Amino acid sequence: MLKMTNLGKTYITDSVKTEALRPFDLSISQGEFVAVTGPSGSGKTTFLNITGLLENYSSGQYVLDGQDITSLSDKARSKIRNEKIGFIFQSFNLIPELNLYDNIDMPLRYRSFSSKERDSRIMQVLEQVGLAGRKNHYPHQLSGGQQQRVAIARALAGTPSFLLADEPTGNLDSQMAAGIMSLLKDIHQQGTSIIMVTHDPNQAAQAQRVIEVRDGVLRDARPIKVAAEA
Ligand code: ADP
Ligand code: ADP
Repeated sequence: MLKMTNLGKTYITDSVKTEALRPFDLSISQGEFVAVTGPSGSGKTTFLNITGLLENYSSGQYVLDGQDITSLSDKARSKIRNEKIGFIFQSFNLIPELNLYDNIDMPLRYRSFSSKERDSRIMQVLEQVGLAGRKNHYPHQLSGGQQQRVAIARALAGTPSFLLADEPTGNLDSQMAAGIMSLLKDIHQQGTSIIMVTHDPNQAAQAQRVIEVRDGVLRDARPIKVAAEA
């Protein structure tokens, strides 16, 4: 679980201050599926990147699975990120020169898994996203939806506590987007906590909890009721 207390973020660029996130308190438990919504520029990506230890906060405290992140070195922070966080992005971020198998293997190489254990994890997640038969293919040989499945497999292979997704269907047509949403819901049902930034009210309605960010102010919103897509 994660707990943020009085957490805030201010960017200072050329002595111009931007308060990207005003101090807020937030707890997210293991097993939740949370959607993060709000207008462009409101602070969603900043929130997700801080949650995933990709970015530092400027004030307050962040405790992840019992560990206070605030005082950790960059190295200790990277280790926790590798072990506890899986990330997926709008643009998939696969490595074009590597086949699917090696793309998924890449982050596992920074962990203390044996090569046998890595192999079994890779095959298991490829199976889970329905691409086991394509492990030797390269990203450009796949559709966008399939590439996002590989990115999801890569994120899951390390069995993270939290899967963080930044507009995961933003580059996909509606049919592929629906496939990815359905995969994310399966993954959540199998026990992975998910925090997903989305502009799409239909997607937000499929999460259990909605956090809204407006002008850097983050708050729990009422669950959105939208009819399921036909
Ligand atoms: P969203 O994801 O909701 O579009 P962001 O978290 O990307 O919003 O940005 C929130 C605010 O912080 C915006 O005003 C943005 O311009 C600013 N911001 C984001 N990243 C940086 C940065 N690295 N340096 C300076 N300002 C930034
Ligand atoms: P989003 O799709 O979430 O709106 P943006 O295109 O606003 O993302 O920003 C992408 C990334 O670029 C942000 O995560 C941030 O690190 C960086 N960024 C955003 N705004 C600024 C800014 N004003 N100055 C520097 N970097 C920025």
